[in-house]
Amino acid sequence: MSKNLSKYVDKSMDKQTGVEHAFKRTKIVATVGPACDTYEKLLELTRAGVNVFRLNFSHGNHEDKLKIIEHIRNINKTEPYNIAILGDLQGPKLRVGEIENNALHVVAGDILTFTNEKLVGNKDRIYVSYPNLHEDVKIGNKIMIDDGKLEVKVIDIAKNGDVKVEVTLGGVISSKKGINLPDTKISLPALTEKDLIDLDFIIEQKLDWVALSFVRSVKDIVILRSKIDERKSKSKIIAKIEMPEALTNIRDIIVESDGIMVARGDLGVEVPVEQVPLIQKQLIRKCIHRAKPVIVATQMMESMIDRTKPNRSEITDVANAVLEGADAVMLSGETATGQHPVLVVQTMRKIIVEVEATEYRYNREEDLKPQTHSPSFLSDAICYNACKIAKDSNADALIGMTQSGYTGFMLSSYRPKAPLYIFSKERTLINQLSLSWGVRAFYYAEEESLDNILEDQIEILKERGFVKSGDVIISTGSTPIHLHLPTNMLKITKLD
Ligand code: PEP
Repeated sequence: MSKNLSKYVDKSMDKQTGVEHAFKRTKIVATVGPACDTYEKLLELTRAGVNVFRLNFSHGNHEDKLKIIEHIRNINKTEPYNIAILGDLQGPKLRVGEIENNALHVVAGDILTFTNEKLVGNKDRIYVSYPNLHEDVKIGNKIMIDDGKLEVKVIDIAKNGDVKVEVTLGGVISSKKGINLPDTKISLPALTEKDLIDLDFIIEQKLDWVALSFVRSVKDIVILRSKIDERKSKSKIIAKIEMPEALTNIRDIIVESDGIMVARGDLGVEVPVEQVPLIQKQLIRKCIHRAKPVIVATQMMESMIDRTKPNRSEITDVANAVLEGADAVMLSGETATGQHPVLVVQTMRKIIVEVEATEYRYNREEDLKPQTHSPSFLSDAICYNACKIAKDSNADALIGMTQSGYTGFMLSSYRPKAPLYIFSKERTLINQLSLSWGVRAFYYAEEESLDNILEDQIEILKERGFVKSGDVIISTGSTPIHLHLPTNMLKITKLD
């Protein structure tokens, strides 16, 4: 190995630390919380198979998040990982206020009043954190409380802003529980005051991904994008799909975002819950077609919050997300507050590895061709055919280079069978690509000649034990090198 290349293999312990052994195509996103927020626990979770850590800005403060960010960055520095950090903004989440004695029992037929006056709620009046409630709701609209455990129907709207509702599904209302208005067009801004403060923090801390909750239209993404661009931030955007309005605008939202999260928690309250499985399937498919990473989230291994084994239905849920071709599956309470954060990641990884070993693996390459009318058709065609040749030649490695991320996301979206290695001189991208199906990304910054670059990349993979003598390697790249054009060439190498 030339002296020049040694800096690119400074994490050459992959084989020794078992990273190779742990490798899986479908990525794992784990939410960080009190159950896993120390350096040791985060490292254990990473070793168990986490690719992206999610910081949920609905909980905790910036001070605690700073410590977590520092731990993850230290793991990236000292261990052979490129873990991404995803900052998840709370968005316009509506809640009831404090409730007397933290419990209000209601039954079907009870009449309650929602108000925008800040008070401790009781059977007469309950504060709701939505000043425009009386202007936006209509008589007959449904309002869900506490993830839909309780339901009420609007029966009267008073001039003073009070909204009278009749309970249709009873239960216990406790303080700060979320409310959802599936029948109502909400006029709250996409980014609340709290979100703007959290976004500043996310940008300052250079988090890799930022997720926006309760996206309703493409405008929400455009607003977030302009704030990110204003600050010259490289953070990429995930649109959380959990509102019925987002579903009607989904094409534009996918195009404008860098990735999508199927946020099944709120989605299952906002739309009839039995529709969630098909919506998930369609969203995954649409995202793969647009080469945008897609995360399936919420209640994937919920029972493992306090148990050591998942339900059979949870195992099938994770397996189905893998079979549908999701880029990543997500853990929320399971890792944030659960009793077995490491075990749940290990269990999830085992399910993924088992499913990926079968012939049922999702393979887009067979059913979707690059679109001739697309402005990126020529480079898409190289990526498509690189995957096809990799398959036909039973290649041992498929290599891509990227400066914007595009080639990385595009090659990944064809879900190639050959292991996928992406090289970039953009360090942020190396982490961001951790979310993408099958991508293993490497830092590489030489730009002398294409021949040298292709040789170097293979040498780096060889040094790290990913390829060996006799292997067939498909490389993609762009020439002339100094023009940084979109991917425009491919080469087959048989290693001596
Ligand atoms: C969801 O609703 O499924 C979700 C992921 O969002 P959050 O955890 O922020 O409620």
